[in-house]
Amino acid sequence: GVLPGQESALIGALLAAGVGPRVAAADDVRNLLLSPAAGLDPQARMDVRPLAGQLLDLLQDTPALHALSAKFALQLDGGEALAMREHPHDLWLAAADERHLLLGLAGCPSDAPLARIEAAQAVELVRQLLLLFLELATPEQSRMRQLLAQLPASELLQRLQARLDVPLQPPTADWQTPAGVERAPAGIYPQARAGLCMVVAGAQLGRLHAEQLLALAELSERHAGGELRLTPWQGLLLGNVPQAEAATLCNALGELGLLHEAGDPLLGLVACTGSAACARGLADSKHHALHLAELLRANGARPQAHLSACPRSCAS
Ligand code: SF4
Repeated sequence: GVLPGQESALIGALLAAGVGPRVAAADDVRNLLLSPAAGLDPQARMDVRPLAGQLLDLLQDTPALHALSAKFALQLDGGEALAMREHPHDLWLAAADERHLLLGLAGCPSDAPLARIEAAQAVELVRQLLLLFLELATPEQSRMRQLLAQLPASELLQRLQARLDVPLQPPTADWQTPAGVERAPAGIYPQARAGLCMVVAGAQLGRLHAEQLLALAELSERHAGGELRLTPWQGLLLGNVPQAEAATLCNALGELGLLHEAGDPLLGLVACTGSAACARGLADSKHHALHLAELLRANGARPQAHLSACPRSCAS
């Protein structure tokens, strides 16, 4: 929906606001997923935000890593309850306790980990692992699972170990994936700090409008310390909300057209751009999703569904 001729001005404004990479070549490789509740969630084993910042610096400041595929993705899991853990990543790190991380490849923290490391060693480990991947992968192997189809993970770890000063430890024997959420969350959630809470809402089919963003900025300054976090469920999280203000904030989000009730059928629906704005679209998928949500509202069922208007299957 960006008007022709306005692209550069928009990009400039976004970069000036800090919503972008430091160097253009690093834009596609900043794929690091963490919980939107990082540092706030009472179930978390570690506040992973400082390490996340270091990993993003690593990806941006190491030109060799800009050769990674735009789809190559990392996950850093602090053990939060509000987390999306089922989506596979090329490399994942999950907090075992407040000082140790478990490492896994081509999967997610509900899989068995391969090794355990000190959190203080994580940046160097990721640096060496990514450089090793780029050395070993053929041009056809852009993702970790493709390399591991040819090279056993044990051998990759041996080669990694040879590049590290500290030993990779065996993974925790009784690793249990932290409990998470099964559906897109919405509503009020407890925060680790007493008296404060988090408020989560979904954006209808992943769309936020300028008027909503302006109102959200004002609400976040009034109730949430001026911070607004995006969620991997195509929604928003406002943290550090005084408990006494949470219901008022929730209602205000609802009035803005955001999905603030956990039972809303639209929270289970994802739709690609569709024929209304995508040249490849064979159907108006967002329109169909809204229609489906109306039928579900009456019917009571709450399925998870992904509507794509062509076989490329974008949007999720
Ligand atoms: S799935 Fe197809 S129609 Fe939908 S946004 Fe992607 S390319 Fe366009």
